[in-house]
Amino acid sequence: MREMSCRLLVIGAGPGGYVCAIRAGQLGVDTIVVDPEPPGGTCLNVGCIPSKALIHAADEFHRIARLAAAPAMGIAATGATIDLAATTAWKDGIVSKLTGGVAGLLRKAGARLVAGEARLRDGKTAVVSTPEGPVMIHAELLVIATGSEPVELPSLPFGGRVISSNDALALTGLPESLAVVGGGYIGLELGTAFAKLGSRVTVIEAAPRILPQYDAELTRPVMQRLAALGVRVLTGARAGGMSATGALRVALADGAEDIVAEKVLVTVGRRPRGAGAGIAELRLEMDGPFLKIDDRCRTSMRGVHAIGDVTGEPMLAHRAMAQGAMVAEIAAGKPRAWDHRAIPAVCFTDPEIVSAGLSPEEAQRQGVEVVTGLFPFSASGRAMTSGREDGFVRVTARKDSGEVLGIHAVGAGVSELAAGFALALEMGAGLEDVAGTIHAHPTRGEALHEAGLRAMGRALHI
Ligand code: FAD
Repeated sequence: MREMSCRLLVIGAGPGGYVCAIRAGQLGVDTIVVDPEPPGGTCLNVGCIPSKALIHAADEFHRIARLAAAPAMGIAATGATIDLAATTAWKDGIVSKLTGGVAGLLRKAGARLVAGEARLRDGKTAVVSTPEGPVMIHAELLVIATGSEPVELPSLPFGGRVISSNDALALTGLPESLAVVGGGYIGLELGTAFAKLGSRVTVIEAAPRILPQYDAELTRPVMQRLAALGVRVLTGARAGGMSATGALRVALADGAEDIVAEKVLVTVGRRPRGAGAGIAELRLEMDGPFLKIDDRCRTSMRGVHAIGDVTGEPMLAHRAMAQGAMVAEIAAGKPRAWDHRAIPAVCFTDPEIVSAGLSPEEAQRQGVEVVTGLFPFSASGRAMTSGREDGFVRVTARKDSGEVLGIHAVGAGVSELAAGFALALEMGAGLEDVAGTIHAHPTRGEALHEAGLRAMGRALHI
């Protein structure tokens, strides 16, 4: 068997693994990263990027189709059509450009990319099945970055009409009707996109409301928009299997319903992926289904780190990347530990939701007395000029010191505000800092300024 050796071996080239390998390479650490798929992981191949491409295409189509129905702003358009096969091909083009770009970045940094599935022998050795035959790789340090995969429901195994998010992002024909099982962010992002493209969408969520991880104030505008788009949302509802006639059986609080749908998209969560890599055989300490790590992403085995989705929530690309960069610097001998104050999260529904830091309820649960300031986009000139006045920015701060603990927003295009929210939290901003920062006019970002002012009882525009 061919043998290779390195200082740092990274299993998985998702956002966690590839960033780790690039940074390690930049720092002169002899690094090998292994993945059977094009580098970029779930995020570039079947996650963040493909879903945002579909969402954007759906937004564009919906905007034009809506102009045909109700001309606004003096613009009229007719005859909009969508060819989902062409949309999917456009999305695939973006994906290959990005995965090719990552391969180039790895090369430039001097990290070696080995294409193949790795199986760990121990904490320092892996056998990789490559197209050219097996390769044994020896390393001084190991990083497990094998990510996550969609959870399958035993009553609705993937296949045929029952699809995962991976399949939904590869469709070449628009389903006339779509049942989405699971009203978390992935189900709602995709469900909204398909509704805008013209599918009849029903969302089935077991919890009392959709997006249960966000507070009700934030999710209300999303609920209202789903209703306006004609999406039917069933909460407190549990999907069973398929009936003899091929309908989806749904148990409701007050009975049952059979839902007829051309495709059933199951988005009930993601679970860590590691079976193929032989991770269980290392007998590492676990935290539920996830690998247990400390503030340096060290597992219970010396010299073995773990990063990204395989280490638990929040399962987000930018968390994986930050962990990857940190572990690379540790491998290069730098004193680093996880000391971030906030990991922002964006839900690309319509309207979008941004969450950074603590919500008022979370702060109160920690025994902190807070003040909040909320500025609605209905009072924003920029929101009016863009035809979308739904939503708001909300600031939560300590009552005693004014230290900002959390910034949340819901509204069209607010994802781009996430950077400013995270920066304010990471820099330990107080309400006075938010109030003392000149925000460009007219922008949606001014809502942060006004929310900060309002929390201090000094609002100017409301
Ligand atoms: P992954 O990206 O899952 O990568 C793991 C890699 O390991 C894979 O490439 C896999 O092939 C490889 N691998 C597994 N086993 C082996 C093995 N034995 N040998 C070699 N390689 C192996 N996050 C966001 O932050 N923003 C978003 O907007 C967003 N949207 C999403 C939309 C969808 C539809 C989905 C599914 C996910 C989305 N996510 C989003 C989540 C994001 O994709 C993940 O959090 C992120 O990809 C995790 O990175 P990772 O490096 O931990 O793992």
